[in-house]
Amino acid sequence: MLLLARYVLPVSGPHIDDGAVLVRGTDIIEVGARSDLLAAYPDEDVLDYGLAALMPGFIDLHTHLEYSVFRGVVDDLPYSRWKMEVQRREAFLSEQDWADSAILGAVEAIRSGITTIADVSDSGAAVAAASDSGLRGVLYREISTMDTAAIDSELSRAFADMAEWATRTDPDRLSIGIAPHSPYTCHPRLFQSIAEAVGGADTHVALHLAGSKDEYDFVKYGSSPLGQDFRTQSGWADQPWMPTGVSPVRYIYQWGLLDLANVMAVHCVHVDDDDIAILERTDVAIAYCARCNAKLGMGTAPLRKFSIRELRVGLGTDSPASNSTMDFFDEMRVGLLIQRGMHGEDGFFSSKTFITMATLDGARALKLDHLIGTLEPGKRADIIAVDLSQSYQVPTQNPYSALVHTSNQEDVLMTMVNGSILYDRGRFLTLDPEVMRDRLEEMRLKVRD
Ligand SMILES: [Zn+2]
Repeated sequence: MLLLARYVLPVSGPHIDDGAVLVRGTDIIEVGARSDLLAAYPDEDVLDYGLAALMPGFIDLHTHLEYSVFRGVVDDLPYSRWKMEVQRREAFLSEQDWADSAILGAVEAIRSGITTIADVSDSGAAVAAASDSGLRGVLYREISTMDTAAIDSELSRAFADMAEWATRTDPDRLSIGIAPHSPYTCHPRLFQSIAEAVGGADTHVALHLAGSKDEYDFVKYGSSPLGQDFRTQSGWADQPWMPTGVSPVRYIYQWGLLDLANVMAVHCVHVDDDDIAILERTDVAIAYCARCNAKLGMGTAPLRKFSIRELRVGLGTDSPASNSTMDFFDEMRVGLLIQRGMHGEDGFFSSKTFITMATLDGARALKLDHLIGTLEPGKRADIIAVDLSQSYQVPTQNPYSALVHTSNQEDVLMTMVNGSILYDRGRFLTLDPEVMRDRLEEMRLKVRD
């Protein structure tokens, strides 16, 4: 199959005007000029997207597909109150509700041009949604408890689930990992036990780290609503907690978790230079969730400092529960504009840098860059076509800037994973979003006040 467009952005090199990508089976075979590839492969099926950009699919480094139904339910609250409200409503959902909510998340990912997700799931609903939809990704089994008596049983349940998830997923497309939720929901012995259990393996590990000021205050001083109301609501009021006197990053570092081979820290907003040095030394990847962090009043991660240290940083949406949409163009745009707005010319990020963060750098963060993240021969065909012909986009000479500053998820024409088209000009080929609408209304009634 020969894909054609006005612009091809391999990301690994300069963009190609009037470019083409040859896909066969699951792989990219050749990338080059339209005229050259049409001449070399005259009998190939052709899909011409016109005034559009062909580029690697987006890599969403942090989401929770199963939380999609919470969109707009708990809105306009700061982080801790938002977290408590979502947690309170989780009990109202059935297993089928979680499954359908995760499918909604998969629909949104595909519509937005996301081809790889790094999903954190408590219910396990993301496994079927990711598997059936055709998405690529890492599925992290979430684990949390502050109750020392429950640590061993929670751990064995988590590892049993991970083994079961592996039987239901195609290892070429989906990997299984573990996600201790955060410093304020996991007992230190849980972090230590996970570090010991994973040992020298390259198991994917993710955790929310240094996200909100409340988390920072809880870890360092033992204060904030996360140290009181949240622990009471979670049933951990009787579990002792002593202020640690250190930052969340240094605290987690002490328990050995950051020394593991394949760790991703989500948020990293409240980090100082000492914390960043730890993240650099331990080669921890970072999911920059700019829009979620801004919406919930968590703050802004010091992206400039991460980039000076050459940390592995990509972008994450953190699901519609916090972010309202999974629009990855919005994610790039807001993530870039916040940094420019805060720092002016000092550390001025370009659109091209953000396109790279959304693709290749995301692949590096997951250590999947040998397979995905660029359009290069031999890599998997995870490709999107984005329309650039609308009135709000033309004229343009710079496809990077047009993608970041003028495009939205509605402009995605085609989403392909592993050489299979999952979405094409309004049609979903693996999922049926229409049957979801009635179910979503039912679920919304359950979770609203
Ligand atoms: Zn999250």
